[in-house]
Amino acid sequence: MSEVGMSAEAPHAAWQEALARLRHDTRQADVDALVAAMPSREHEAERAAALLGLTRALPRVGRLAEAVRSGSEALHHFELLGDLPGLVDTRCALAVVYAHLELGREAMEHALGALDLARQLGDRERETWALLRMGNAYQALGDPVQARETTQQARELAQAMNLTELEFGCLNNQAHFTLDECEQLLRDGELERVPLVQALAQTLAQDAVLLAQREGHAYWQALALSNLIDALMLGDDWRRAEPLLMSLSELAERCGYATLRLELRLQHARVSAAQGHVDVALAQAEALLHDNDPAKARRLERRTLQVLYAVNKQHGRTDAALHHLERLLAADRRATRQAQALQIQALLIRQEVKSAMARAAHAQADAQAAQARARHLEMEKQRLQERLTRTEHDALEDLLTRLANRRHAETALPLLMQRTLNEPLALALLDIDHFKRVNDRFGHAVGDRVLREFANLVRQQVRGADLLARWGGEEFVLVLLGNGAQQALPIMERLREAVAQHPWGQAQEGLTLSTSIGFTLQPAGSPAPTWPVVMQRADQALYRAKAGGRNQVCSA
Ligand code: GH3
Ligand code: MG
Ligand code: MG
Repeated sequence: MSEVGMSAEAPHAAWQEALARLRHDTRQADVDALVAAMPSREHEAERAAALLGLTRALPRVGRLAEAVRSGSEALHHFELLGDLPGLVDTRCALAVVYAHLELGREAMEHALGALDLARQLGDRERETWALLRMGNAYQALGDPVQARETTQQARELAQAMNLTELEFGCLNNQAHFTLDECEQLLRDGELERVPLVQALAQTLAQDAVLLAQREGHAYWQALALSNLIDALMLGDDWRRAEPLLMSLSELAERCGYATLRLELRLQHARVSAAQGHVDVALAQAEALLHDNDPAKARRLERRTLQVLYAVNKQHGRTDAALHHLERLLAADRRATRQAQALQIQALLIRQEVKSAMARAAHAQADAQAAQARARHLEMEKQRLQERLTRTEHDALEDLLTRLANRRHAETALPLLMQRTLNEPLALALLDIDHFKRVNDRFGHAVGDRVLREFANLVRQQVRGADLLARWGGEEFVLVLLGNGAQQALPIMERLREAVAQHPWGQAQEGLTLSTSIGFTLQPAGSPAPTWPVVMQRADQALYRAKAGGRNQVCSA
């Protein structure tokens, strides 16, 4: 058996828990749980990590097309995230997937890509993983010798860095490649080289067993033992293989290694055959053929048929041997067709994921651009709105006192004059006394402050006024209608009094202030005069107030 996983982190989320469970034996249910718990695209970093884990797990349950899909998507996310270590890991995982698919070129492309990146990063551990995956790629390219040698480089690096898991992965792969080489030699009838390669496979498997035992790692032990048993059986050494097979069966049973348990049954059949229990061996192999799903474990199916053919042939059961040879050839043809279909499917999926990701990226960019445009428009609208309100205010409001300005008053006055048909109207002009002196004595800034304070004071005194406006300079116009107009004289007196009593000295030491007020009363029912006429009358009254000594109210 091949493949060990990379380190997993402490589990938190559901997908991380599923990943942690997949670390050892790989169960379909755990893979399905990981698929179900996949983080959404908004959580890009988590999704990428989960997809990477899935890409590592799927090949072990024979779901290669899905592995291409998840690996291709993971690659895309890590690229967008600029996560270079993630890219190396995903390329390594994809190299394994393509190697399983016997797409050696694609496997090599990813392994080499991973190697380049890892070297750029100066990440020795990832460089070693990439070398290990190059071994897988060479194997898929049909070059087991180069595969073994590249993996040897990786193994030496792993040893030097004391990376036990990696070292075990290398040893395990080397044993696996060598066993394959040996089986190939046997199939091709190159028998003279078999003993040497078989001995090498045995040594590698034995080293792996020792390392697994030293680390006390049950799953590694199981993998390594399985390879060692294969190697011993290739050397027909069933006496040494049998006790190992017993302890491996027990281990697989205890730990629930489902895939391994199936493979073990083939080894049981081989041992039975080697012991001369031909019928038992054939029955075991047939039962395995029945229970095994060839879609998931094609290699196991071929090896089982191989055993059935060889055992029948060896014991002179020619018809049965021929029958199984035909089945083997049919299975080979089926496997080749399936492999080709899967290869095409995988390459199509890769392309499909690439375009889907490109489309998603475009859509996202479009959405972001649209959002930015909308935000910009919204801001523009707000700015316009503000400017509009400001202009409207500027046009009708006096900026210094925040009272209505002269323009406002001139617009409002004709409308107010029409109301005199129904109700009385009083129009008053207020002029600050000797304001020039304020400016002269305290400066223009104090003058401005005084104007503001004066405006506030008047506003407070005549809350119910129908109009209060700054007419210009230190002159103000006030219009009262209805009851207010009838009460004009006492209101104006109160106003004058309030200005005179106001503690101006608090704002500016030594400052006192008074105002002169001239007003005119227009009774209800009188024909509406034009406002300049009314204004002129008020102005005459104001003139009289000034002339009369200021700080007084006059009417006309
Ligand atoms: P009177 O009692 O006869 O009204 O005397 P007065 O000094 O108030 O009248 P006059 O018209 O001679 O002077 C008004 C002064 O008000 C002149 C001008 O500089 C000042 N003034 C007008 N507008 C403003 C303003 O917005 N801020 C300041 N600080 N002063 C202003
Ligand atoms: Mg004046
Ligand atoms: Mg004045």
